[in-house]
Amino acid sequence: MGTSPADGGLNDEQDPGPPLSEHQGRGNTVRAVVCHESVLEVADLAEPEPGPGQVVINVLRCGICGSDLHARHHSDGQADVLAEAGYDGFMRSSQRVVFGHEFIGEVAEYGPECRKRLATGARVVAMPLTRRGSDVHAIGLSAAAPGAYAERVVVEESLMTPVPNGLSTDIAALTEPMAVGWHAVQRADISKKDVAIVIGCGPVGLAVIAMLKAKGVQTVVASDLSSGRRALATACGADVVVDPREDSPYPEPRGHGHLTTIPSKVRLGLDTMDKLARLPVPWHHVWRTADAVGITNPKRPVIFECVGIPGMIDGIITAAPLSSRVVVAGVCMSPDSIRPVMAINKEIDLRFVVGYTPLEFRDTLHMLAQGKVRAPIHTGTVGLEGVAGAFEALADPETHAKILIDPSSRAALSTVATSPTGAP
Ligand SMILES: [Zn+2]
Repeated sequence: MGTSPADGGLNDEQDPGPPLSEHQGRGNTVRAVVCHESVLEVADLAEPEPGPGQVVINVLRCGICGSDLHARHHSDGQADVLAEAGYDGFMRSSQRVVFGHEFIGEVAEYGPECRKRLATGARVVAMPLTRRGSDVHAIGLSAAAPGAYAERVVVEESLMTPVPNGLSTDIAALTEPMAVGWHAVQRADISKKDVAIVIGCGPVGLAVIAMLKAKGVQTVVASDLSSGRRALATACGADVVVDPREDSPYPEPRGHGHLTTIPSKVRLGLDTMDKLARLPVPWHHVWRTADAVGITNPKRPVIFECVGIPGMIDGIITAAPLSSRVVVAGVCMSPDSIRPVMAINKEIDLRFVVGYTPLEFRDTLHMLAQGKVRAPIHTGTVGLEGVAGAFEALADPETHAKILIDPSSRAALSTVATSPTGAP
């Protein structure tokens, strides 16, 4: 999911009602893929109308996201959780919804009260949030905000960013999912010398890997059960790639100064105190100085959980070195259990991340345009008629990572040959 209720200002007011309506036989229509009760079908819908400050864009590409795959079958559970958090507009299976929150398009029509800084035809990406009255909805994950599995989509002018000249449409379409990776890396507070370990190399894990390398992190270890995903992890820049059935993703601790057992930590503390006791100055002055310059901070890896199935977090807490920072980006939709006593005794630092800020979104687009990000995750393209088949293809992790929809195409799924050089 590429939107953050926390960042996006979603509120708890009542939804004024879905604007998604079947074509009534007047005016133009727009072709779109509608999801209803888990069935994906192409339909002709009424032309979307931009409200104040809104813009209609002609969709050039839209990525299929893991959250779309999940929402197709299991949206009600997520809608219940988000309603508890104050947003009651998330899609439900009984509603007719147009997915699509990872898109690039061309400016087609401005609504009232727009500043119109970009010419008609300009290529743009946009953060997938939009107003309906006083509410804000997640484009492509709410019945109130139809998404970009369609020929046209309505976006907010203030959330729209022009695509720099020369950046290919297929790469610019990756802005949203790569921004999710950039946000996870930013929230991780990781330095270039920290070891990063990415567990799970689906689209989120691959975006995290690519953004860690773009940030200059020297050692990125990636782990995935699928050989196809491991190959993509290498193509995105991972330095070490492991099959967790054969190798541990946690690197040899001694080389990095990581501590792995509680006895090793208490022994280090005692050994240090023995040495300090021999000094001619009070030990607590030395310790305070060492604290001030940061050398008492434990060396630890930063681990990114990008799988999102039950048991992953506790498995990482159990296997990780002491004091590891665990950044949870995988969206586990069911209740899960951890053993706090394990995390406590190892002083594991656990943080959860979602979405991105407008600045992270904009910066991701420009990092892609400047060639700072190597992310050959685009593996296939389909027309609207091919979307249902693409959903089936994405169930198998070996072949596909990111499939883009081209609404102007009538093609069934075509596969992009990826190369380790990074260009899809
Ligand atoms: Zn997404």
